[in-house]
Amino acid sequence: MNAQPAASLFIDGRPVEGQGDTLPVCYPYTGQEIASLREASPEQVAQACAVAAAAQPAWAALAPVERGRVLNRAAAIIRDRNAALARLETLDTGKPIQETLVADWESGAQALEFFGGLAATITGQMIPLGQDWAYTRREPLGVCAGIGAWNYPSQIACWKAAPALVMGNAMVFKPSEETPLGALKLAEILLEAGLPAGVFNVVQGRGAVGESLVGDPNIAKVSLTGSVPTGRRVYAAAASFMRHVTMELGGKSPLIVFDDANLEDAVSAAVLANFYSAGQICSNGTRVFVQEGIRQGFLDRLAERVRHVRIGDPLDPATQHGPIVSPAQADKIRAMIAAGQAEGARILCGGPGEGAFIPPTVFIDATDDMTIARDEIFGPVMTTLAFYDEDEVVGRANATGFGLAAGVFTRDLTRAHRVAARVQAGTCWINAYNLTPVEMPFGGVKLSGIGRENSAAAIEHYSQLKSVYVGMTGVESPY
Ligand code: NDP
Repeated sequence: MNAQPAASLFIDGRPVEGQGDTLPVCYPYTGQEIASLREASPEQVAQACAVAAAAQPAWAALAPVERGRVLNRAAAIIRDRNAALARLETLDTGKPIQETLVADWESGAQALEFFGGLAATITGQMIPLGQDWAYTRREPLGVCAGIGAWNYPSQIACWKAAPALVMGNAMVFKPSEETPLGALKLAEILLEAGLPAGVFNVVQGRGAVGESLVGDPNIAKVSLTGSVPTGRRVYAAAASFMRHVTMELGGKSPLIVFDDANLEDAVSAAVLANFYSAGQICSNGTRVFVQEGIRQGFLDRLAERVRHVRIGDPLDPATQHGPIVSPAQADKIRAMIAAGQAEGARILCGGPGEGAFIPPTVFIDATDDMTIARDEIFGPVMTTLAFYDEDEVVGRANATGFGLAAGVFTRDLTRAHRVAARVQAGTCWINAYNLTPVEMPFGGVKLSGIGRENSAAAIEHYSQLKSVYVGMTGVESPY
């Protein structure tokens, strides 16, 4: 298997070889090296930012509808090539092809389409002031740095590029070192769709490359998808230059199942909220609170459903559960499973697995203070927790530093909305979970982040307002 790109970086509309350290890219299923890339040198990061700064003004000067057209064309190209792009995403991430065919690039295409369509609707405000008046202009920020995580590499690149570009910004994107291939494809596709050279650039590398990108004098904004510790570092670095930030960080989200819930739907949601993409999803509902009256029935059905999950070769269309992205990540997940057992929780189904594979794992007899109930695992590990009443569960659901997402399953209409209002989370699903349509804002509160991706709300995070005061009646001065 060979997925070697034309070159490691994409700067000024063409592939450019990196001048830094080697970056091997391995297929998580076999461990086989499928590409060998090189990191960007500090000079290449600076060059990419300078190129973006030079290209940005002409791009911003286009009519918004023209910028939108480029994004729409890119979405159409992605759809045409979805099968090949999905295969590459599977090789890069190890996620099952049945997921990458429908979720990753498709979600990216929807973002390009949504923001492409929004382009021509972005306007300012006219403010009457008696005879004088003022108006606002929504202006681009300049050059935005995008830094991505490895779980949805191509979707993340599209989610950041689409609102940034449609507002007339340029972008320098650094994918995770684990999954560097999709962003290069996006750069090629955007160029083919008519994006001027230099407006979207890709640099590769580990954290240090991200650091030099964040510190580059041409950068006006940093949008990061990653863990809370990285978010803290990047936010602090951006603060010293007063840069705008969007932080899409981790979570330990509660999924609350009341006695009156539709049992089968609640089990389906818990399964999807923990095991899709082998559990490597930031918004996963990993603390599943189940009310006492429904608990045994819920666990019985959950165990039965999870036992039938098909684990194996991610390129086999029948496979539902693939490998973990890297051996290091699998080790971390296994250490969390071991911690759960050592602290007294019991495994209902699953376990540490072998090699690259960790099966869907469900813990019972857990308490809120256990490591598995407090820390983000970012793997296929669900912790179930019993509860008795609404006040109690809301208090326990909120007793975490994270605040990315939450879910509530109940047939009681007023309770559903009451709980949705009380949970501290950027998104709360009612009788659903982990659906992130582009029309809906997505992002976290508390340690889970700042800013919103998707929806018209994202435009605010890739633009700044200028107020223009228009004097109509001459200037009266006391001096
Ligand atoms: P990391 O925080 O390890 O890395 C995120 C990105 O930041 C990577 O590209 C990484 O590069 C880069 N990076 C690391 N250090 C620095 C630095 N000092 N300056 C600039 N960039 C840096 O996250 P993971 O890739 O491990 O992804 C998993 C995490 O992402 C989980 O916590 C998950 O919850 C979160 N996530 C959040 C989402 C959301 O929307 N809220 C969605 C998806 C994931 P490199 O990898 O090359 O070291």
